[in-house]
Amino acid sequence: MLLKMLPVGPLGVNCYIVASEETKKAIVVDPGDEAESILRTIKEMGVQVDLIVLTHAHFDHTMALARIKEATGARFAVHPLEIPKLNEMPGEFANWFGPLDPIPPPDFTVEDGDKVGVDGVELTVVHTPGHTAGGICLLGDGFVLSGDTLFMLSVGRADFPGSDWDRLLESIRTRLFVLPDETVVYPGHGGKSKIGVERVHNPFVGSEADF
Ligand SMILES: [Zn+2]
Ligand SMILES: [Zn+2]
Repeated sequence: MLLKMLPVGPLGVNCYIVASEETKKAIVVDPGDEAESILRTIKEMGVQVDLIVLTHAHFDHTMALARIKEATGARFAVHPLEIPKLNEMPGEFANWFGPLDPIPPPDFTVEDGDKVGVDGVELTVVHTPGHTAGGICLLGDGFVLSGDTLFMLSVGRADFPGSDWDRLLESIRTRLFVLPDETVVYPGHGGKSKIGVERVHNPFVGSEADF
């Protein structure tokens, strides 16, 4: 399996390209910006993108979606609770980013426990509400793409409309911290980590005892 982390855009979103070395089929997760750079990387990797998945619909994770979809013909999937937020721009950012490329409706939706993938790569959908209502993490073999739910020694913001701090911490404790220690965490922003490190050192989540 090939996994490429590509930080894009002014908010430094990590776009991920997950591909099979054998079949050369790939999934793009969170094509946040810089479509040209994502497409160049796809070309350099020599893979065919058949699927785009969003961890959630915040604009910083979606701004290159329409162009990547058009260029690759890939299908696009998101959790149903995120659909109303596609094409939404929070007021505080509207002046910086201007109008967005309109995002088409998803080709299909994904829910907790669903397997999504392409020939040679399969990811399991883990619903982790809190940062957004329909936020998901994507669990692969020995790694998890954690979106804006869990960051290295930090967690996602819970001050957006629809965010919920208690649900965010519950999602992290009950859905992510139950994964094996060695599971590599690839977050939506910033550097990678490991579940075992986060369970012990993440200052925001704490132990069950303080819950
Ligand atoms: Zn977000
Ligand atoms: Zn984000």
